[in-house]
Amino acid sequence: MRLVFIGPPGIGKGTYAAAVSQRYGIPHISTGDILRDEVKRGTELGRRVKEYLDRGVLVPDELIIEIVRERLSQEDCRRGFILDGFPRTIRQAEELDGITKIDLVLNFVAPEEVIIDRISGRRICRVCGAIYHVKYMPPRVPGVCDKCGGELYQRDDDKPEVIRRRLEVFKAQFEPIVSYYRGRGLLVEIDASEQAEVVIPRVIAVLERVFNR
Ligand code: AMP
Repeated sequence: MRLVFIGPPGIGKGTYAAAVSQRYGIPHISTGDILRDEVKRGTELGRRVKEYLDRGVLVPDELIIEIVRERLSQEDCRRGFILDGFPRTIRQAEELDGITKIDLVLNFVAPEEVIIDRISGRRICRVCGAIYHVKYMPPRVPGVCDKCGGELYQRDDDKPEVIRRRLEVFKAQFEPIVSYYRGRGLLVEIDASEQAEVVIPRVIAVLERVFNR
């Protein structure tokens, strides 16, 4: 089950991917998470990409393609994977085709107001990466992760001034990628305007149908 999840920042891809990953035992590979982790650990790569992440613009293709190539070569990807946040450019999509065969691309869609509302309320655990929303998926104790007790924080690029920029960048890159996969007959659109409890079963239903599980 080699999947690509596409959708604007904040639509909930991370939440849906976590559910699919758990159900089918395939890794959730988020290029944004990989890059943020490098920045946090202060690695050489982290120092190179920090400025792009802070500005909400894409890091260079060569860099991200090598990261994904290396990640997909790991043992845990043999039975499949969920790519989240990659590809974002046609060059990345073409290179990906050279690395592996993609079985299905899920395109998550929702109106812009829904997306902005979701991103601005998103909070993430500093320790285990679990995702919450102050309104729609609040932790039991505000600011504290239910799973591990870690501190919850708001990503710098989830703040309103950067969100707008990220949505612009996304829109500019989005259509070509969607057409690319539509042209290959791999695209399925998922309405993600409702809450995760509604969207996740919708995603599972599509996967069961396509992969005959
Ligand atoms: P995300 O968490 O997917 O919204 O990604 C956060 C940031 O990481 C983006 O704003 C980009 O700066 C960078 N990034 C993540 N994935 C990619 C990619 N496939 N190509 C280029 N930059 C990326």
